[in-house]
Amino acid sequence: MSVMEKYEAVIGIECHVELKTESKMFCGCRNVFGAEPNTNVCPVCLALPGALPVPNAAAIEHMIRAGLAVGATIPTFSKFDRKNYFYPDMPKDYQISQFDMPITQGGVIRYWLEDGRIGECRLTRIHLEEDTGKSTHAGSTDGRIAGSTFSLVDYNRAGVPLMECVSEPEIHSAQEAVAFLESFRRTLLALGVSDVKMEEGSLRCDANVSIRPLGATELGTKAEIKNMNSFRSVQRAIESEIARQIEIVESGGRVVQETRGWDEARGVSVSMRSKEQAHDYRYFPDPDLVPLEIGAERVNALRATIPPLPIERFERYTGTYGLNVKQATQLIDNGSLAEFFDACVRVSKNPQSATNFVLGDLSRLANESGIAVSDSGVSPEHVGELIALVESKTINSKIAKDLVERMWKGDGSPKAIVEREGLAQTSDPSAIEGFVLAVIEANPGPVAEYKAGKTNVAGFLVGQIMKASKGKADPALVQSLLKAKLE
Ligand SMILES: [Zn+2]
Repeated sequence: MSVMEKYEAVIGIECHVELKTESKMFCGCRNVFGAEPNTNVCPVCLALPGALPVPNAAAIEHMIRAGLAVGATIPTFSKFDRKNYFYPDMPKDYQISQFDMPITQGGVIRYWLEDGRIGECRLTRIHLEEDTGKSTHAGSTDGRIAGSTFSLVDYNRAGVPLMECVSEPEIHSAQEAVAFLESFRRTLLALGVSDVKMEEGSLRCDANVSIRPLGATELGTKAEIKNMNSFRSVQRAIESEIARQIEIVESGGRVVQETRGWDEARGVSVSMRSKEQAHDYRYFPDPDLVPLEIGAERVNALRATIPPLPIERFERYTGTYGLNVKQATQLIDNGSLAEFFDACVRVSKNPQSATNFVLGDLSRLANESGIAVSDSGVSPEHVGELIALVESKTINSKIAKDLVERMWKGDGSPKAIVEREGLAQTSDPSAIEGFVLAVIEANPGPVAEYKAGKTNVAGFLVGQIMKASKGKADPALVQSLLKAKLE
């Protein structure tokens, strides 16, 4: 047993997701990324005296839909609380958040791994709060203030609706942590509640990592890893942290509770601060905001707007339809293609053929043209017709391939094209025999070679026969008839 195998890693994920809304959480300022600093601000998000917050209904609906999608319950009553702490990027000196009565309770994130296994991790909580402003400190990578000793603060982000999601410590490897995050990200994208872009900070995540001897039930001392700016960083940072803790314990040391920042360039984490005790945020209900009351009718109406979820698609694609993990993931990560595929399966009742056309010729044409399959001239009904023509052996695969190209260009129904142009496959042995005999007569050289034992020239002769039939001959029949005539 290697040193690594003597331990089990225990990981919990905490992530913050900026919700996609027109305006901020408690005021009418625009919620957009990348504007000139301090241009999307007003008395409410700058906390000027007398300004009062008004909750954003769209953000609350996003929260409820996200909660329902992960199987959380939506309590009838919830409320906003003030989380008190001082930091210059927070103009009010408190953050409006939710403490003991969040909008959603519970929930589970289910995810899939590269080998197709499905895992799950329960959620401790998801709540709604407002984002803080953004500080840029001297000595940071921002060239404008290099070498100086002050900080700049941009309040455009202050007050942007923010979802905080905390998982239970039920993840045991870096791969599972990334799969968990990917699944959550895909779910939020499918719901349309966030852009979830790590590079723009609309998805930010931290990981709590500890180790314990394999088989132990008590949790070890954890370190919190911050500053991971891609899923690749998450993977590397967690792997490196597990190895660091094992090394400490193996050499007789003790892991200390601390916050560590991940340095992507150097591939190491660095201690930021020790965290011996919990902060005292002196939470209390925000007196400026009345509690939220959300009725069952409203919840049911929102439940009806939830689209097929990525994990449900994954189970259907790999389980019921027999797709492999790569094919299923490829479809799921292209929402409009997955919808197109689902429609093709509904029409054709043939998932395997639908997969071949959608991920094969149609995706190739989409890549070549830069036009999405769903925006092309091809409809799921036409794909269904094409599959039926192949299934009934009315056309062979060569004609099918040509038809896909023509459907892409907007030629319409493949069934109509086949009827109009007489493209139906020739399965009549006497007609095919005529083509075979003609080709044998026209190619005495290759025929002699074949008879002398060079049987690979058969491919050439089959090609000639297919050509003579204008591609319509049944290729299997051509091969068997040719073989019979030559031997
Ligand atoms: Zn504002």
